[in-house]
Parts: sequence; C-alpha cells; structure tokens
Amino acid sequence: MMRAIFGGTFDPIHNGHIETASALINELNISTLSLMPSAIPPHRPQPGASASHRLEMVKLACSHHPAFEAEDWELKQDRPSYTANTLSEFNNRFPDDSLLFVMGMDSLMSLHRWHQWQQLSDYAHLVVMPRPGVDFNVENERLKDFISTHLTHVKGDLEHQKSGLLYIAKTPMVDVSATELRERLQHREHDLPLPDTIYDYIRQHQLYL
Ligand code: ATP
Repeated sequence: MMRAIFGGTFDPIHNGHIETASALINELNISTLSLMPSAIPPHRPQPGASASHRLEMVKLACSHHPAFEAEDWELKQDRPSYTANTLSEFNNRFPDDSLLFVMGMDSLMSLHRWHQWQQLSDYAHLVVMPRPGVDFNVENERLKDFISTHLTHVKGDLEHQKSGLLYIAKTPMVDVSATELRERLQHREHDLPLPDTIYDYIRQHQLYL
C-alpha cells in the first residue's frame, strides 16, 4: 500500500496543508497520510505554539479526510527531528509499503540544506506539491543532480518501487502560509484560511496573540 508522511511545523496547520494533502491522496490513491508535527525544527526559529497545541490542531484537521491521521513520533523523540532519521524508522516499521515523504515546493528548493538530505530517497519517495510564489527553478548543482537522478513523471512508478523516486504532484495551488496566518490571527482577523474547529481552538487557547 501507499503510505504518506507529511511533516511540518504546522504552526498552525491550515488549508494550504489540508486541501493539497487531500488532493494528493486522491491523485496517488494513498491509503494513509500521516500529518506529523516536528519537535525541534532544525532549520527554523522555534514555533509560536507549543508542541501539544500543534498536535491538537493536527488532530482536529484529521476530520477533513478519512485517510488523514495524526503522527506524534517526532514529538516523542528527545533529539532533533531530522527527517532522514524519521524516514529510516518508518521504513523499518512498514517494510512492505511504498513510503512517500510529502513536502511543498519551497521545501524541495532548500532540500540541500537538510541534514543527510541525499539519504532521504533511500527510505522513501519524495512527493512535492506546487506552492504559489515558488518556481521549480533549482540553482544548487548537487540538488539539480539529485532531482534529475530521481525524478519520475509516472505516478504508477511510486507503487512499483518502494522508495528512491521524486514526483511533482498536480495538486492545486493554495495560497496560504502559516507566517501570514499568525500575523492575521495576531490582528484578530476573521475568515481565515483554516477550518472553523481550528480557528475556535486557537481563540479558546489564546494562541498567536
Ligand atoms: P511558515 O509560513 O511558518 O514557514 P508553512 O505555511 O510553510 O509555515 P509548514 O508547517 O512549515 O507551513 O509546512 C509544512 C510543509 O507543508 C512544508 O513542506 C511546506 O512546503 C508545505 N506547505 C505549506 N503550505 C503549503 C501550501 N500552501 N501549498 C503546498 N505546500 C505547503
């Protein structure tokens, strides 16, 4: 079966994650897509909401697709959540499944700065979702080589092989970022691009003020 892991800070999780991941499940016939908040993001400033709040919001997002599930593995680790370690763990845990690691185009464009990034494809396929404002335009030579070595345009290949490929998805462009959302929440704006249940949770716990 096709098992996907979608990792992120999810600070907070928003429609940019939920709508694209839902479309991806349909595009690739994914059985389970684990939404996995990261514990100590290695390349970023510390998140605005605590790990437990971020996980609770991810759990609320799970009602939006039957294949979504919340995955707290990285939050339970007492070391930085390097994706290579996580994928190695999931590869051992589910040896019979095709494993997909899902990311947005901005993440692919900075992949060469991730810890042990060239090993990610040893454990999983990389599936990249387009994102508004981010072109598929690679300047780093090592990343360029990596992409041309692993790129496939044939989605069926992801099922026939358990790891090692890179696929650019045809998911819709959803113009939302958590950074912009946090600013709008701070200004107490309404009608934000995230589910009502998550908006209510943020207000109830007075997050991002
Ligand atoms: P921030 O604005 O704080 O950087 P973010 O909106 O990018 O946050 P993250 O939790 O950092 O959200 O993203 C997790 C993953 O989801 C990353 O791989 C990112 O590229 C991807 N992603 C986030 N928003 C979108 C979107 N609108 N469309 C496609 N992919 C997205």
